Amino acid sequence: MSRILEVNDLHVSYGPIKALRGVSLHVSEGETVSIVGANGAGKSTLMRALSGILPIADGQATFLDQDIRTVKAHQLARLGMLHVPEGRGTLQGMVVEENLRLAWEIRPTDTSFETAAEEVYARFPRLGERRKQLAGGLSGGEQQMLAIGRALINRPRLLLVDEPSMGLSPLFSKEVFKVLAELRDSGMTILLVEQNVRSALGLAHRAYVLNQGVFLTSGDAAELAKDPAIMASFLGHG
Ligand code: ATP
Repeated sequence: MSRILEVNDLHVSYGPIKALRGVSLHVSEGETVSIVGANGAGKSTLMRALSGILPIADGQATFLDQDIRTVKAHQLARLGMLHVPEGRGTLQGMVVEENLRLAWEIRPTDTSFETAAEEVYARFPRLGERRKQLAGGLSGGEQQMLAIGRALINRPRLLLVDEPSMGLSPLFSKEVFKVLAELRDSGMTILLVEQNVRSALGLAHRAYVLNQGVFLTSGDAAELAKDPAIMASFLGHG
C-alpha cells in the first residue's frame, strides 16, 4: 500500500510551549489510524499542523509527496486532505445545505453540487430531512454528522477527524463511530485523534499513543487494546 501521509520528527510549539516534540508517523492508502492520548497530549496540535493551519517548527511532513511545510492549508484541502475539526466548525447561522455547498466549493470535482449533496444525504438521512434548517439548531450528533458530511462532499483522499465524540452523549458517540466504521470499510483513509481510547482502538487498524508531545508506543490497534498498561494509563478516559 502506498503511503499518503509521512511525518518524520515533527516539532510544533506555541511560543515557549513545545506541544509536539518529535513525532513520526505514516498513513497508507486505505488505512484507518488512531492517535490516542489524554487531554493536552497534543492531538489537536498534530491535526492542525498536518492540515497546514499551524506552522511546523522542525521535521518533515508530506501528503501525497507534497511538502506540508510549504503547501498552504487550502491547497492541502484541494489535494484531498479534509479536516473535521474539534468542535465541528459548522456554520451555525447557515442552513445544512449552505454548509455543504460552501464546503463543496473548496475542492473542484467533476460532480455537481446537487449530486454530491445527495450522496451525503444518502449516508446521513437526517441531514437530508433537515437540509433547510439552520446548522445551529441541530443536535450535537447531527452537527458532527454535518461536519463529517462537509468533508465527505469533497471525496477525501485522507480524512482527518479530531475528537468526534467530544461533547456527545454515549448514544450519539456510538452513532458517529458507526459511520466512521462504514467509511473505513468502504476503503477510505482516515486519521483520527480521540480521547476515548476504546472507541478509537476499536475503529483503527493501527494506533499511536501520544503523551505530552511524544509517542509512547504504536502498533496494531487490537494488540494495543489488549495491553493492560496502556488501558490502565487511560483509566477515566476510556
Ligand atoms: P484536547 O483534547 O484538550 O484538545 P489535545 O491532546 O488535543 O487535548 P492540544 O490541544 O494539542 O492537546 O494541546 C497540546 C498542548 O499545547 C497543551 O499543553 C496545550 O495547553 C497547549 N496549547 C494548545 N493550544 C494552544 C495555544 N493556542 N496556545 C498555547 N498553548 C496551546
